[in-house]
Amino acid sequence: MTTPPTAPRRTVAYAVGSGTTRRGVRFVVVSCPYCRRRHTHGDPPDATDYRIAHCKRGEYRIERRASR
Ligand SMILES: [Zn+2]
Repeated sequence: MTTPPTAPRRTVAYAVGSGTTRRGVRFVVVSCPYCRRRHTHGDPPDATDYRIAHCKRGEYRIERRASR
């Protein structure tokens, strides 16, 4: 198990809401672990990449609570 010497600041942000704009673009709202505010991101169907927080304090991967 190795740790990169310059590990980027990454964590998980939990989705607190989602929706679709009038133009049909899906989005997801997350509770930011860095600034405790909410940020809205585009919501591609298979979003597993890390996103840069809008507050520029770090990155996070959006985690959705299982709701099936
Ligand atoms: Zn933030």
